[in-house]
Amino acid sequence: MKLYKKEGRGIVKNFSNYIDFDKKENLRMESKCVHGALGCEPLTGAVSFPIYQTATFRHKALGESTGFDYTRLQNPTRQELERTIAILEGGLEGFAFSSGQAANMSLFTILNPGDHVILSDDIYGGTYRIGEDIFTKYGATFTYVDMSDIDNLKNAITDKTRMIFVETPTNPMMKVTDIEAVANIAKEIGAISVVDNTFLTPYFQQPLSMGIDVVVHSGTKYIGGHNDTIAGLVVVNRQDLADHMRLQLKSHGNGLAALDSWLLLRGLKTLHIRMERHNENAMKVANWLRNQDKVTKVFYVGFEDHPGYEITKKQTKGFGGMISFNVDSFETVKKILEGVDMVMFAESLGGTETLITYPRTQTHESIPEETRQKLGITETFLRMSVGIENADDIIADLDRALNG
Ligand SMILES: *Cc1c(COP(=O)(O)O)cnc(C)c1O
Repeated sequence: MKLYKKEGRGIVKNFSNYIDFDKKENLRMESKCVHGALGCEPLTGAVSFPIYQTATFRHKALGESTGFDYTRLQNPTRQELERTIAILEGGLEGFAFSSGQAANMSLFTILNPGDHVILSDDIYGGTYRIGEDIFTKYGATFTYVDMSDIDNLKNAITDKTRMIFVETPTNPMMKVTDIEAVANIAKEIGAISVVDNTFLTPYFQQPLSMGIDVVVHSGTKYIGGHNDTIAGLVVVNRQDLADHMRLQLKSHGNGLAALDSWLLLRGLKTLHIRMERHNENAMKVANWLRNQDKVTKVFYVGFEDHPGYEITKKQTKGFGGMISFNVDSFETVKKILEGVDMVMFAESLGGTETLITYPRTQTHESIPEETRQKLGITETFLRMSVGIENADDIIADLDRALNG
């Protein structure tokens, strides 16, 4: 068997001798999801990659390590997940953190005092908090722009701009950004480009292939996919960024635990079929919502009249499972949130269950009221993560709550 490619995707060598990595590289996306990096564990042949529940690793002799020393630094289960996500995103190295927030915190520590960051204006509330409430204290500055118009990004650039952080589609307004344009601008000015790929996952969108440097995920969402754990993932395409992330993970001690790494590996095995069903169901639900009298506007990237439709078609293979919408009154908001039965009123997204969120007081609470109003995150605004149930059941439930 061939050796694991030494130039990337992790630091541990020993397991590497067992896999024919090049062969895996040629597999199609669906097979990569199922088979991961090593996939089958090489020492015992376990088809389900084991949960290496150990804090430390025995050494054979002085100066002779198995490649694993201490789980905060590396753990075989976490490594399998890190390599798998790196393969799926087409990156150099992957990193698994204890949450999406932990992943972004560790990424942002690359900023130096005085550095400037440009972010999407309706960014996830937690990412906004990392900038405003934490890194401004260390002298970094943050500008939020509507990146669906790339000129807004260009106009916000200063000679201190060090990072461009994009969510596309955005959470929750579903605005779409031209990823390739962002990558090119970042290269021109020598900034690090980052895409939060939580909403579409590598199954539908692969930012690194469009020239982006870093992809981040809340692994809690579609990657894990079952609303059963919290996790974060980062994939980088540059060795200097890989070194930065590895140092942060090791120093903050915020690497994902073995059990949770296994849950994500298990989730990834069905990523492709889950994403297809999310996509299919969301299309049906969005079209239904659009025809309801009490629904005043539906934000969904799969509509042909969505302003970002052409860019979406260019850079993604699907629309995902996220929909936001406005209703006619706060009374209707209450009716829906309190009236749904199978559909659940809960924060989060990307799991098998359909969830409805009230962004104003949930995901986007950290954002100032004035900004929220400007973005459209008002008291009549709702966000839905369409699950993989039968679409007719989702619609029937919404219909009861909304019109019953
Ligand atoms: C949930 C979420 C995060 C934060 O991830 P956690 O796993 O909750 O820490 C970041 N970005 C987006 C787009 C999210 O939806």
